Amino acid sequence: MFFIYQIRTLTPKVTPCTDLNCPLCGSRAGVELAIFQKYAWFIMPMWPEGKFGIAYCGNCQQKIPNVKWTDELEERYYQLKKETKTPLNLWRGLFINPLLLAAFIGIIAGTVYMLAQRNKRNQIENKALLSEYIVAPKAGDLYRVAVLVNEPSPSYNYTYFRYMNTSGDTLFVEKLKKGLPTYGSWDQLNTSEANAFEGKKIPLNHSVFKKNQDFLIMGEETIHIFFKGIERAGHTLIKN
Ligand SMILES: [Zn+2]
Repeated sequence: MFFIYQIRTLTPKVTPCTDLNCPLCGSRAGVELAIFQKYAWFIMPMWPEGKFGIAYCGNCQQKIPNVKWTDELEERYYQLKKETKTPLNLWRGLFINPLLLAAFIGIIAGTVYMLAQRNKRNQIENKALLSEYIVAPKAGDLYRVAVLVNEPSPSYNYTYFRYMNTSGDTLFVEKLKKGLPTYGSWDQLNTSEANAFEGKKIPLNHSVFKKNQDFLIMGEETIHIFFKGIERAGHTLIKN
C-alpha cells in the first residue's frame, strides 16, 4: 500500500540578530533569521522532517542568499536551529492515521457484512415463503413459467399458469393464451383481461412441484415446463 503525502513547513520562528552585520548592505540592526520546520503531512502532520533557515535584512529589505552568509551568521543559524525544538505533535499522524484507516476499513467491512446478511436473510425468507405458497396455493396465484418449445427449433416461451384447484396430489392450473419469447417479459403480459386464460385444466403433480419446484404434468414423464416464480396479490417471489 502506498499513499501520497506532502511536505509542509510550520510558521517560522523569526529571531532578530541585531548584533550581526548584513553582508549585503553592511548595516547592523536589520538582520533576522527565520528557522523553518518541515514535516510530512497527510490529513494531519505525520512526522517531522529537517529544518532550514532564511536570513533577511530589514534595512536593505533583501533575503540574504546562503552563499553570502558570514561565518557569524552561519554560526548563529546553527545555534538557533539547535535551540528550536521539533514539536512532538508533528508525529501524531503516524499514530492517529492508522487508527483512522482501521476505523474506515471497519466501517466499510461492517456495511458490506450487514448488507450481505440482509441479502442472505431476504433470500432465506423469500425461499421459505415460496415453499409456503407452493404447499398452500390460493385462488388467483399466478405461476411464472418457461415452456420449452421444440418446434420449429428449441426455444422458450414465457407465460403464466393460473392456479385453479387441487384434488389429492393433483394441482390444476390453466395457461395464459399469450406468451413471449423473451426472458423476463412476464410484466408485459396481461393476466387480468377477460378470457386471457385458456380455461382448460392442466393437471400438475403437486408432490413434484413441492419437492423440485418444477412442473410435471400428470401422466407425463419429463418436465418441459419450468417454474420461475409466483405472483400473489401483486407481490412477486422469484425462484432462484
Ligand atoms: Zn542589508
